[in-house]
Amino acid sequence: MTRAIYFDHNATTPVAATVADAIAGALALTGNASSVHTAGRRARQMVEEAREKVAELVGASPAQIVFTGSGTEANNLVLSGTASRHILASAVEHDSVLAAADNIEQMPVDGDGVIDVAALAARLSDLDGQALVSVMLANNETGVIEPVAEIARIAKEHGALVHTDAVQALGKINVDWTDLGVDFMSLSAHKIGGPQGVGALVINEEIPLQSLIKGGGQERSRRAGTENVPGIVGFGAAAKLAATNLDEIEEIKTLRDHLESGIRTIAPDTVVFGESVDRLPNTTCLSMPNVSSETQVMKFDLTGIMVSAGSACSSGKVQASHVLKAMDVVEEFASTAIRISLGHGNTMDEVEHFVSQWRKMYAQANPNKLKGAA
Ligand code: PLP
Repeated sequence: MTRAIYFDHNATTPVAATVADAIAGALALTGNASSVHTAGRRARQMVEEAREKVAELVGASPAQIVFTGSGTEANNLVLSGTASRHILASAVEHDSVLAAADNIEQMPVDGDGVIDVAALAARLSDLDGQALVSVMLANNETGVIEPVAEIARIAKEHGALVHTDAVQALGKINVDWTDLGVDFMSLSAHKIGGPQGVGALVINEEIPLQSLIKGGGQERSRRAGTENVPGIVGFGAAAKLAATNLDEIEEIKTLRDHLESGIRTIAPDTVVFGESVDRLPNTTCLSMPNVSSETQVMKFDLTGIMVSAGSACSSGKVQASHVLKAMDVVEEFASTAIRISLGHGNTMDEVEHFVSQWRKMYAQANPNKLKGAA
């Protein structure tokens, strides 16, 4: 039987047993968090406890957390809720940012995928305080970390608001609301071991924000709709766990580095995107000459290894990555790139098995480069 190796933690990461138990506990209870009776108050208490845990993970206060139905919704809420402003977003943002409003001007990034801060500052001075800057904390495809605190400082000098999509960064690096100095920050539960379909927007309460979903007055009138109590409880449990799991990240980085050096031993000229700048410790995005991304994903899957081609967030459709395009990566490398994202539970043995499978595939496609390895 083929062994299953899950190397796609940036797409979604498994729900921990304690989180599943917390969700099951919440599902077993009846109660709408808006009801005033005993069952309703119990549901409300569970929501508020989860809010405290999520707030604590990012160093914000519970009142700043607005629960949403996903990270996508959090991004949409802030971009459409402040849409009277001119939006400047980096060209490597997730689609849930780039597609969230019509008035988005994309800002260039360099060859490593880091936003051109000087170009951003120049546009901010033209816009005279009427802008919202949206720059992700870490990229989902390459793991490249953006200089968000510096961007926030510059944006403030120009009177602009700042949003960061911290969906991928959360649980992988320290994410601190105060250090970042932003006005809005998007989070998603399922990237930190919580359930899918729950997110949060952390807000600066003083800034007016139009709600996206209209109806009841839930989430202090910022997000209508009966709260997803089990999902929110799961998010809270995952946030609590994420604070402890952060200690493990050095081990995950050792695995990632071992994987990259193993591949480099086979093919010294392998392109690893964003390699020379700060990256998430669990992520690598690299090319294999002469094997398309889709073929690699399928062939690895046949050997039990799950990786992804660029962003896995677009319902399985494989298309040229807008992230690599924005980085000016030539077609030959962009069309042969895969993302490997490690997480809790991965082992050195799995990494070595992956490297040996990579070697086989590489040797088959590049017989003159690696004779006898297939
Ligand atoms: N932002 C980034 C950077 C992501 O990687 C993703 C999902 O992969 C999202 C936002 C969307 O989050 P969700 O899956 O909760 O909608």
